[in-house]
Amino acid sequence: ATPTALMVGIGRGASLGILIKGQDALEASGVIDTVVLDKTGTLTTGEMTVTGVDGDDDLLRYAASVEQGSEHPIARAIERGAAGLDLLPVENFETLPGLGASGVVNGHHVLVGNAALLASHDITPTQQPGLAGQGGRGVVYVAVDGVFAGSIVLSDDIRPSAREAVDALHGQGLRTVLLTGDDAPAARAVAAGLGIEDVRANVLPADKAGVIAELQADGRRVAMVGDGINDAAALATADLGLAVVTGTDIALKSADIVLVRDHLGVIPDAIGLARKTRQTIH
Ligand code: ADP
Ligand code: MG
Repeated sequence: ATPTALMVGIGRGASLGILIKGQDALEASGVIDTVVLDKTGTLTTGEMTVTGVDGDDDLLRYAASVEQGSEHPIARAIERGAAGLDLLPVENFETLPGLGASGVVNGHHVLVGNAALLASHDITPTQQPGLAGQGGRGVVYVAVDGVFAGSIVLSDDIRPSAREAVDALHGQGLRTVLLTGDDAPAARAVAAGLGIEDVRANVLPADKAGVIAELQADGRRVAMVGDGINDAAALATADLGLAVVTGTDIALKSADIVLVRDHLGVIPDAIGLARKTRQTIH
């Protein structure tokens, strides 16, 4: 390997908004055939908004009270959605990664999260708000004292640059996979809007790395693009881990490439650059 070509590659990367951590990352990028993309916060902005509440007046208040203890973007959105309501103190708060949160509010046990969370308590959501339309529209369910109480609909906009980036990856002959802890309908809505055919939904944070390993066992050379704490193990397992700029410190540490431009075009750019640099080196 000629260090000069490597330096030029890394220098050019920096000017595009791509920080490449070393030669191994650059080498790996050149042979990638599959790109796994996290949904929330990567393909979508992660800046969610409550667009609808299906349930009685206290539903949003109870849900927002529980969410005070959670760091998840959904929690922030629900709190914003409940602005003006008096939130209540929460006891026994628990965060359930990839599922939701729970706590005791006003003497009532409140669960806020996805269908899998309710299912784990043998609770079936009885209303299913329409998930039609594009955008990462998600639903969070609320149960009180073990009984389904209603749902909160959230919008999570697809990043304007996502479609172009996915098209470019396909144009480079790469296969794409959408990986998320979210429910299948929300995942499929985003995937359909972007032309991603392979969708892996309801994957718990702890299982994300396993999905990457499965793809590798099938002989695929995998790049993982993620943002959050949930993706750290998957980023580290992948042949190449790319973290988007909004990523947490943990995601950044486990990533080989850090994308510091707020445009998903940096993903195909990084892979294209690595391929070119690799040709120069060898
Ligand atoms: P992603 O894989 O898309 O980044 P996460 O693994 O963080 O998503 O979460 C997966 C799903 O779990 C969310 O889409 C949501 O349905 C549910 N969830 C996680 N945390 C919370 C929370 N604090 N409140 C409500 N729902 C949550
Ligand atoms: Mg995420």
